[in-house]
Amino acid sequence: MGVPAQYLQGIAAVHVVVVALDLKLALLLRCKSAILWMKYTYLAAKTFIRTRGLTIFLEIHWARLHVSTVLRVFWLTRLAYHVTRIAVDRWWLTQNNSSADALTVTDTLEITQELLVSGCETIVALMGMTSVISSVTHHIGVIMAAFVGSDTDDEKTMGTVSAVLFFILALQTGLTGLDPEKRYVRLGRNFCLLSAAILHYSHSIVSPVLMNLSASQNPSPLRHSRPLSLCAFLILFPTCFLYYLWSNYSVSTWLLAVSAFNVEVIVKVLISLLLYTLLMVDAYAEVFWEGLDDYVYYIKSTGNTIEFFFGIFVFCNGAWIMMFESGGAIRACMMCIHAYFNIFDQAKNGWKVFMKRRTAVNKINSLPLASPAQLESHNDVCAICYQDLQSARMTNCHHFFHGVCLRKWLYVQDNCPLCHELIYMPEPDPNIENRNNAEFEQNMNDANIQNMANAMNYRAGLQAGGNGPHQQAGAQNNGVAHAHQDLLEDP
Ligand SMILES: [Zn+2]
Ligand SMILES: [Zn+2]
Repeated sequence: MGVPAQYLQGIAAVHVVVVALDLKLALLLRCKSAILWMKYTYLAAKTFIRTRGLTIFLEIHWARLHVSTVLRVFWLTRLAYHVTRIAVDRWWLTQNNSSADALTVTDTLEITQELLVSGCETIVALMGMTSVISSVTHHIGVIMAAFVGSDTDDEKTMGTVSAVLFFILALQTGLTGLDPEKRYVRLGRNFCLLSAAILHYSHSIVSPVLMNLSASQNPSPLRHSRPLSLCAFLILFPTCFLYYLWSNYSVSTWLLAVSAFNVEVIVKVLISLLLYTLLMVDAYAEVFWEGLDDYVYYIKSTGNTIEFFFGIFVFCNGAWIMMFESGGAIRACMMCIHAYFNIFDQAKNGWKVFMKRRTAVNKINSLPLASPAQLESHNDVCAICYQDLQSARMTNCHHFFHGVCLRKWLYVQDNCPLCHELIYMPEPDPNIENRNNAEFEQNMNDANIQNMANAMNYRAGLQAGGNGPHQQAGAQNNGVAHAHQDLLEDP
């Protein structure tokens, strides 16, 4: 009964064809919208990169996809798994073997070593570990900045910088491909280099705080003691660390690199402390200290020169490793970046500052010194810093300024701050060197336009606030702060 067999077959065939057509249609439609979606996304991404830049694009999507959180959770879960496995193994051992005793220090060390080694055995695990380290160093940076009272955002990048450094070091030394024993040693060495980088970063957080405190004459001892104690730590810790390393390990390229980084931190901190002391002495001095600017310049340039030589030393050390120990494209890239930023750029900037200063000093020296009688009849303060004039240089337009103040002004522009005449007599015979200087000055002017605008606004504000002679109690104090600020802004 019912439908005959041949019709049943026909119906079945029609059914299959209809379903197949339907599926094909659906797939085609889907495919079309998928292609459209991909095209749209691609165009949107392209526009975004063109307008905002690749770095911001990557940053936004890195944050949007919570990549670092995913990696961190992955690594911590992995760690938890390893810990559980070790714990179960030990428990099993104690159950079956009565001679097995409680956890000793050696056991703990061994377990830590095992966990660390297994924590970076694959590239993904290494990325997870990097993410955890990044998070830890980020929080160290934030706590440190809060402790010393820093108001910049520098500490926020500490996590990123240390993550990049750790990951590159790991790739450069081929961490994941090493035997467990060698990997452990290599990991320890990379951590030493990372700790040196964190110390450098801590210095860059604490140094501006110290300079600001001394320039603004902050009277609170607590505000001073915190950055100073961090400085003490930044000297003591590398010293003890280096003492430990040199007494326990034989000389190697790694030890030399770590030592160079740590000694550099100590030198930088000492330089900052020296500058801080000078500015503090000046802040509580009764009279205008004309030599201060020179001392600050000499100390800073000594510091920069020492850093420059450390840069060359680290480069040579790296070249030695490249040639005789282990090469590789990543190391070569890192060497190039180091050579550009830490050696070439630093030398270029140092030379620029030196030339700028030399030009200004030559111009100032061409101006006549005011005699005591002239100073007496002038009877006013320096119009740049609002401080008493014990000695003064006389400009072409017969205005009186401190030599130091005028030199700083010349970094910005060549015209008198009061009447806009050219400050010095133009050279009668303009030779090539002068033309070069003029070009250089022009470049400097461009770079300093913002500074100049600030200075002018500052002066305009002062003059509008206090009409009359320059001698104003408020103006005096502001003048001091201003002069200090100038010192700090000098490259
Ligand atoms: Zn002055
Ligand atoms: Zn003038």
